[in-house]
Amino acid sequence: TLTTISGFDRIGEENAFAVLARAGALAAEGRDIVNLGIGQPDFKTPEHIVEAAVKALKDGAHGYTDATGILPLREAVARRVLATTGVEVSPGNVMIVPGGKVTMFAAILMFGEPGADILYPDPGFPIYRSMIEFTGARPVPVPIREENGFAFSAEETLSLLTPDTRLVILNSPANPTGGVTPKAEIDKLVAGLAERPDIAILSDEIYDQMVYDGESHVSLLAYPEIGDRLILLNGWSKTWAMTGWRMGWSIWPDALYDKVRKLAVNAWSCVNAPAQYAGIAAIDGPQDAADEMIAAFDRRRGVVTELLNELPGVSCITPKGAFYAFPNISKTGFKAKPLASALLEEAGVALIGGPDFGVHGEGYVRVSYANSEENIRRAVDRIGDFLTGAK
Ligand code: PLP
Repeated sequence: TLTTISGFDRIGEENAFAVLARAGALAAEGRDIVNLGIGQPDFKTPEHIVEAAVKALKDGAHGYTDATGILPLREAVARRVLATTGVEVSPGNVMIVPGGKVTMFAAILMFGEPGADILYPDPGFPIYRSMIEFTGARPVPVPIREENGFAFSAEETLSLLTPDTRLVILNSPANPTGGVTPKAEIDKLVAGLAERPDIAILSDEIYDQMVYDGESHVSLLAYPEIGDRLILLNGWSKTWAMTGWRMGWSIWPDALYDKVRKLAVNAWSCVNAPAQYAGIAAIDGPQDAADEMIAAFDRRRGVVTELLNELPGVSCITPKGAFYAFPNISKTGFKAKPLASALLEEAGVALIGGPDFGVHGEGYVRVSYANSEENIRRAVDRIGDFLTGAK
């Protein structure tokens, strides 16, 4: 029998992909499934971005590129960062990676080992914990609480630091809760972390463009006091509806940049070349399609929150960012995972049980509202019928 290193006995996954597969299998059997499970925009990539990739392919962009990404793309990212955060970054600190996930993979591999503590949000993106466990580091969940608007609490986060803490993972706007951590709380968090220069920070800002109610996104890049150990994760997947292109960018401090470059050389060589040209078009081209998509998410956010709050036993705070609602279902009489699975099998609605995002996710389900308003209404109607036993 084959044996692998023990990390592979601990590696987890994202249940959203299993739900997607099961929903697909049910649909293939002829069942009508409404999918509010998957975390990706229901929009197509804007046409001018697709055209840029086609042109690059026709023009012969078929070879390897620099492992860090082509310079014009890294320059475009630097312009984008300046425009969205007001912070100047050098293209020499920008790394182009095959999807936002790869930044988290690299950062957690860099700081995770037995004896190290890594803080991560719970509920949070499931890959954080999975990768931490893979490295043998100790996963330290930071509870993300409904009573706190699903924002990070600076006080609680800082109270979990130990002498062994090597990395703190932050995420705002957040998956799966739609929570946005307010600036005052980030200020406090940074003030605390400034006292611990031995700790690296991974700020996952992939939903930075999806902040509603006239608020604007606060990037950790705006805090120079932690700039020498901040890894910033962002990318194309959500903003330009490009999840399948596998395109992400990250900003790395000088001390780490060459290490991640070498990891790229060892593991993926470079991101596929035509996609990199598409990435430039996304940043430099017209933003109306992206703006319209985000405006649609904002409208659906209102619809889904209102409808969910009408369901018996369900309460849902208005999400402030991303494209997820995280309703509290603890008064329905169901546990979250059995509810999610019964809704899929019996009511034809795919969503994700809160515990798939961590122990603090019990009592909640994640509803992705990256779907048409009509489908959102059909889904919530079906959930209502299920909960009242009407069908
Ligand atoms: N970070 C968060 C919080 C996410 O929700 C996701 C995707 O769902 C990612 C990172 C990964 O993005 P990508 O598809 O670019 O790897």
